[in-house]
Amino acid sequence: MVINGDAISDKETLPEKAGGKEMRYKHMGLKVAKFGGSSLADGIQLTKTKSIIEADPDRRYIVVSAPGKRFEGDSKVTDLLYLCKAHIENNLPYEQIFQVICDRYMAMAINLGVTIDLMPHFEKIKAKLQSGASADYVASRGEYLNALIAAAFFGYDFVDTHGLILFDSRGNLKMEETNELLAEELKKHETAVLPGFYGTNPDGKIKTFSRGGSDITGALVARAVNADVYENWTDVSGFLIADPRIVPEAKTIANISYKELRELSYMGASVLHEDAIYPARLANIPINIRNTNKPEDAGTMITDTANHADQVITGIAGTKDFDVIAIHKNMMSTEKGFLRRLLGILEDYDVSVEHIPSGIDELSVVVSKKDLEGKLEDILDEIRRKLSPETIDVFEDIALIATVGHGMSSRRGTSAKLFTALAEGGVNVRMIDQGSSEMNIIIGVANSDFEKAVKVIYSAFIA
Ligand code: ASP
Repeated sequence: MVINGDAISDKETLPEKAGGKEMRYKHMGLKVAKFGGSSLADGIQLTKTKSIIEADPDRRYIVVSAPGKRFEGDSKVTDLLYLCKAHIENNLPYEQIFQVICDRYMAMAINLGVTIDLMPHFEKIKAKLQSGASADYVASRGEYLNALIAAAFFGYDFVDTHGLILFDSRGNLKMEETNELLAEELKKHETAVLPGFYGTNPDGKIKTFSRGGSDITGALVARAVNADVYENWTDVSGFLIADPRIVPEAKTIANISYKELRELSYMGASVLHEDAIYPARLANIPINIRNTNKPEDAGTMITDTANHADQVITGIAGTKDFDVIAIHKNMMSTEKGFLRRLLGILEDYDVSVEHIPSGIDELSVVVSKKDLEGKLEDILDEIRRKLSPETIDVFEDIALIATVGHGMSSRRGTSAKLFTALAEGGVNVRMIDQGSSEMNIIIGVANSDFEKAVKVIYSAFIA
């Protein structure tokens, strides 16, 4: 097969695009698989992971997190590493916690029959800890040690991301340089395991992404090798149409576009690390969320364009605790600059505006309650002073719910169905906003109606 023009084996290839002077080729089934902490928490989980990798030879580049929780109440290795660092900073003994970490890796290696000598690695990390290594360095060792063990267990090469994933002096990822370095290095490896979560600062020191950042490493590797799929293996079989705490029978989303995902995650659905989508999207690589404990499930496929003509809505997500400031002023519609001045006031108070439903002589701004904390009275005074409205009302404790789906735009009667269901369910809709792309209807309801509203929307569209 061929990656970026380099012959590696003789598997089937197809021309991808003629870019610049050289024709780039893409293998039919190259996969990058990232495994999260729960998929690598102990020897049992690592054994499942190995079976998954062996089931498909296309899974050639593997990105690993640090070992996660093995059971309810257990600690993640990353948290323990941060704890070691915190103890040292506070002149408290850290050795016991460090030993717990070492024991976990030792037990894994023994259970899996991996013969690499971990002692020199533990000693080096301990020495660095004692000489004041940064929290980023200390935390990154969770992924580093896990990748060493996983690589030995899978029989794959170990490729450190130190020196391959680069940050600038402000801590921003250098996307293009990283892409080139990773691509260059991975050409040399038929199969490899890479530690997630970290890269290197301009001064050569380790820097981590924010928590959960191994997802980003996975996406960067997928882009660098021009993978056909970026598989993100976790402990759930993909994203659900609605929060299962509200709709226990919620089905899995089989297909979702990047745009829909962004709408849903903005509205509170907990999905992938936001920044992980970007490199994959840039290279138009589908992301497949899979379950290590149920590898037979197809999971959720995230693609550039929606591939689900048969479904009207893709997902429902929402968040509680917004306030609405409603302003009425006669002849507001003829007063130029009214909205700009109102937004200026909110900007001065560092308040972000979520929505602006408006009428002829009235205007409301929907803002998060948290943003208004300790500022509401001052903001209202300023609005009275600068805009001289007839009335200002504040409606508190509003929940916003987004019903998202490309399928809505091509179907008549979607909103009728939504609002009929809400009316029949006894939910009073306080606000409505529909984006111009018609893929998102946002409603505002009382916090106390939130769960009921999500349930009735779900049952109206998903039988
Ligand atoms: N181990 C790191 C964390 O717990 C990074 C990751 O798992 O993605 O945040």
